[in-house]
Amino acid sequence: MDLSFILNQLGEEHADWKNAVSPPIYQTSNFCFPSVDDFRKAFVQELEEPLYTRGVNPTVSLLRKKLAALENTEDALVLSSGAAAISAAVLNTIGSGDHILCVKDPYSWAHYLMSDWVKRFRVEVDFVEGKDVNRFLSFVRPETKVIYLESPNSITFEQQDLKTIAAFAGERGITTICDNSYSTPLFQRPHELGIDLVLHSATKYLNGHSDVVAGVICGSRERIRRIQQSEFMTLGAILSPLEAWLILRGMRTLELRVQRSSENAFFLVQELKHHPLIAKLYYPGEWEVNNTEERNMGGGMFTIDLNLKSIQQVEHFCNSLKRFKMAVSWGGYESLQLPLCAIPDPEGKRIDWNRVRLYCGIEKKEVLLEDLMNALSSVK
Ligand SMILES: *Cc1c(COP(=O)(O)O)cnc(C)c1O
Repeated sequence: MDLSFILNQLGEEHADWKNAVSPPIYQTSNFCFPSVDDFRKAFVQELEEPLYTRGVNPTVSLLRKKLAALENTEDALVLSSGAAAISAAVLNTIGSGDHILCVKDPYSWAHYLMSDWVKRFRVEVDFVEGKDVNRFLSFVRPETKVIYLESPNSITFEQQDLKTIAAFAGERGITTICDNSYSTPLFQRPHELGIDLVLHSATKYLNGHSDVVAGVICGSRERIRRIQQSEFMTLGAILSPLEAWLILRGMRTLELRVQRSSENAFFLVQELKHHPLIAKLYYPGEWEVNNTEERNMGGGMFTIDLNLKSIQQVEHFCNSLKRFKMAVSWGGYESLQLPLCAIPDPEGKRIDWNRVRLYCGIEKKEVLLEDLMNALSSVK
């Protein structure tokens, strides 16, 4: 993949932009035409050429083009959130009476969509651990229309064998969908392994500056067209031109950011994995299944189970961290912590109260290590 060509040159028509180096933000809802004939043609091409910004906007189109190239697919759609991308992709593929096979513990709102929301259409779902590919695929039924994957997931980083699953599904006409937010196209391109639709929360690494919420669907021209004509235009979860422009800007430094974030995590994992107060450490670099040869870094997140006796001690550790801000999300410039004991648990079922997810931003790694070591040694 020629990353710098995609990010610096692809689709950048400077001559059309009065020679501006940075793309213009086409901040307009509609586009006007000089004659009835031109207007009529624009209606026919509503999904290809600018007529109305819910359909096509040039700033958004530039982003779509780059995202498709990054994932090596024919086309891409951008939506107003990762959750919108997930629901548009899933809803486009299922009908009443169908079955979805979903990997266990996907992103929380993907889980809600498939465990609860789709039930009103009599859609059935199985959530199955995906590490053992033969066991996973044994849950496929004649009514299975979708296999939904997230490899790795974003808390405990289990991976699936995307190639084997895609080949199995392809033979049976089952659509495969994979959330690739964590790996980014730098480390994994699921479509090259046979996956039909590749999703991103662009809120995370793609934008990378914690200032935009956005989602992406990448796939063949035909599949993208089908989603665009249906869920995209009717549910209308579009991204504004300004936000598309912010992502275009954020992506200029995608490689630098993801590399730095991953190096930081790798360094911290090596320093922390034998620490006596850490009972277990989850990091995708530690898993055996490697979907592509390029996957040489485990990304910028890892999760720890603290070897502590009380929730008060866990809270003390988390409250002591100064560099890791306490917040949801990840993928920005800033390091973050997510203590699972902060997530409401009305039924009192939580067993992972000692678990903390850590995202490494692009700070100096020594500063992050010092912060973690100070917080660990402050626990009594
Ligand atoms: C955040 C996230 C999502 C949801 O994306 P939003 O942009 O917040 O709607 C989906 N998948 C993964 C893996 C995520 O981390």
